[in-house]
Amino acid sequence: MAGQGNLPAQLCYSCEDEEMMNLIVAMLKKWLEDSPDVEMMTFSQEDNQSWCQCNKCAAAKNTYGTNAAQVIKFMNRLYQKLEPWLTENGRNLVLAFFAYHETVDAPAKKQGDTYLPIDDSVKCLNNVAVMYAPIEADYTKPLTNEANSREYENLMKWKACSNKTLLWTYSTDFISYLGPYNTYDSIVENYRLAVKSGAFWILDQQQKFQSNSTAFHVLKYYLQAKLAWNVNLDENELIDDFFKNYFGTAKDVMQKLFNEVRSRMKYIEDELHVSMYIYVALENKDYWPKGLLLQWLEYIESAKKTIEYLKDQDEDLYSLIYDRILLESISFRFLLIDIYGGSVYDAETLLAEKVAFKNDCAYLRVDRFNESLSLSEYMNRNW
Ligand SMILES: [Zn+2]
Repeated sequence: MAGQGNLPAQLCYSCEDEEMMNLIVAMLKKWLEDSPDVEMMTFSQEDNQSWCQCNKCAAAKNTYGTNAAQVIKFMNRLYQKLEPWLTENGRNLVLAFFAYHETVDAPAKKQGDTYLPIDDSVKCLNNVAVMYAPIEADYTKPLTNEANSREYENLMKWKACSNKTLLWTYSTDFISYLGPYNTYDSIVENYRLAVKSGAFWILDQQQKFQSNSTAFHVLKYYLQAKLAWNVNLDENELIDDFFKNYFGTAKDVMQKLFNEVRSRMKYIEDELHVSMYIYVALENKDYWPKGLLLQWLEYIESAKKTIEYLKDQDEDLYSLIYDRILLESISFRFLLIDIYGGSVYDAETLLAEKVAFKNDCAYLRVDRFNESLSLSEYMNRNW
């Protein structure tokens, strides 16, 4: 075991202790017995960047250029230990591991136009799969974009080391949950790349800890759900369908708002030259001019007006669409108060805006500022 500071410890993957291996195999068998339908399992590292520094692990890193080599060898040993039991019990199992942080790089090399494992010992067994999670990519651009050439090449290298690939991508800004984060320009291509590269599973991670997400993240959930079944669907048609069916008569104004937000996000990337990695603080006045935020909030008010007629006709539908429009207002209201506050509103109005914002977030269950901080903690500290 190896821990650094307060981080949870990582296993030493060079450890060949039979007793430990037997213990792990026994645990896996128990889980499999308890879950007769399970066909895939992960044996994963801790979510941090520490790693075992023992002589064996250090030597392997030196030879292969990555800590993933020892993990592959360990996973192969683990699968081989488990295999007789799987055969006896008629079970099919894919055993997956993370290629992430310290293990993100594949132990492979380029030879001519193809990639090869550095040696045969770092080739995964057929049922050992890699879950490639390139957390350092810029997800406002597809993995096929030049900005992500390192991640793309690494995916090709992983393909050389494993017959089975799972792809874990990211679709939100993990330090600014309330800001818009543009993966609309990359999501389709990443799903298509997953198919092309032979990945049989994809997870495009959004706001796991947020009960309800603003900033058009709901649209991303819709795109993910549709693309998971068919990556060849037309993205523009999907977006049109979403706005028509989700916002009813507020479709046009909400889609206009979305298009302007998307254009602005593109402007931030291309004209302000901001590399939109998943840990960029979005509360920045260069990104969101005051006038633009105020204009977007006017669109929100117009959207509410277009559904007024429903109040008498169908109160439930009215409330449903009203809440969806309100949810999208949260992002722009947050940015306006947080970045500009007193320079937009007088003291009394600012206080009223903050109270209304807080109440609406509670009602809509928008409860996180980011992955590690609740929205109420953030507001208490900064507002
Ligand atoms: Zn070690």
